[in-house]
Amino acid sequence: MFALTFLGTSASVPSAERNHPGLLVEAGSHRILVDCGEGTQRQLLRAGAGFRRLDRLLLTHGHFDHVLGIPGLFSTLRLRRSSEVMTIHGSPGTLDVIVRMLAGLWGEGKAPIPIEFASLTEGSVIDAGEFAVGCFPVRHRKTDSFGFCFESKARRHLRPDRVDALGVRTDLCAASCARQVGELCGRQNGRC
Ligand SMILES: [Zn+2]
Repeated sequence: MFALTFLGTSASVPSAERNHPGLLVEAGSHRILVDCGEGTQRQLLRAGAGFRRLDRLLLTHGHFDHVLGIPGLFSTLRLRRSSEVMTIHGSPGTLDVIVRMLAGLWGEGKAPIPIEFASLTEGSVIDAGEFAVGCFPVRHRKTDSFGFCFESKARRHLRPDRVDALGVRTDLCAASCARQVGELCGRQNGRC
């Protein structure tokens, strides 16, 4: 269901082979960028992913190696005359870094493309119907960092009688099913 493109897997210093952090998650017609380290836009091109339908940016935290690619990417999107609103999800501390960075480059309250800020709190981030994204706090130095979980929703409910007939342990089935419907994201609307 999800296609992952690892755009960058280095830490604070890149190497010749590994870019600053960035991950593209594609689910159906949705494309979500997780973190945007320096050079991410070039990595998108190298991966053949391009810039179309890129309207969500999830930020784990505000350390520079995760966010310095944003100004360059936004400048490119402006040159491409993108009119899509880019929604940036991050913790309050992370968003503060982004707001100040954009203000330093383009002036207070300005950016080269339309943007919206969405402050993260633990739980649901995106519910796109066929999949959902949740977030949870993680410890990373002195930041208010978040991790993200991408969950595809079960298309069919398992029937216990058929599962029993196959000799499958139903306790394992229940755990698997709960995970599919997004237990981590606070939704438990599935049933086995
Ligand atoms: Zn960091």
